[in-house]
Amino acid sequence: MYNYQHIEVDTHTHTVLSGHAWSTLNENCIAASSRGLKGLCLTEHGPAMDHSLNSFSSCSLGMIPEFVHGIRVFTGMEFNITNFNGDIDHIEPVSHKHIHFGIASMHDVCMPLGTKKQHTEAYIAALNNPLVDILGHPGYAYFPNDPEPIVLEAKRLDKLIEINNNSFRARKGSEENCLRFIRYCKQYGVRVCVSSDAHFDSMVGVVPRALKLLMDADFPAELILNRTYDDFAGYLSDRGRI
Ligand SMILES: [Zn+2]
Ligand SMILES: [Zn+2]
Repeated sequence: MYNYQHIEVDTHTHTVLSGHAWSTLNENCIAASSRGLKGLCLTEHGPAMDHSLNSFSSCSLGMIPEFVHGIRVFTGMEFNITNFNGDIDHIEPVSHKHIHFGIASMHDVCMPLGTKKQHTEAYIAALNNPLVDILGHPGYAYFPNDPEPIVLEAKRLDKLIEINNNSFRARKGSEENCLRFIRYCKQYGVRVCVSSDAHFDSMVGVVPRALKLLMDADFPAELILNRTYDDFAGYLSDRGRI
């Protein structure tokens, strides 16, 4: 049994460093602590998005303490998928060791709109990038795709699919697409992470709609990787990330 109301690690959060988010890492960690979390992933947008990280700031991820206000901070990035080949932002190779958790996402400000087939192939190619552990909000309705081959590729690579609570607010029409991903992940035994995609500290660790969608689909608890800190940290350790 587990508590569907709670995750121990929020795997997708932003700070002011993303250029369009509003809280600091300190504030996010204080908020996480107040909600009983044990860890969070600091996943600023990659350099292809205007006013976000540059190659120097990604190098400085190494300056962040392992624990902030008692919260384990896993440094990482929300890489932008930038074309139909599934290429992601370039960061300096010296920064790669600071990517404990790499998300690859499509955003309309830095990814052209293509066909369903092109989006599907781009997601599959991005999953094959060694810096990428998970696809961010692949249920985003703006970029229609075919979930089944994407989920099967995640399974082949032992990678992850994100169920992003912010999609239900910010990305209209995403609920139905997220449900398709949830059903295929359940069918093929692929693990998911439930995240807030927080752009303000009040959002950190708050994921009720994503958890409800999983619960309503009878999604197996053991396939929600970040419901426990130990499972999530163990996955990163097995992958040689931490
Ligand atoms: Zn995103
Ligand atoms: Zn994000």
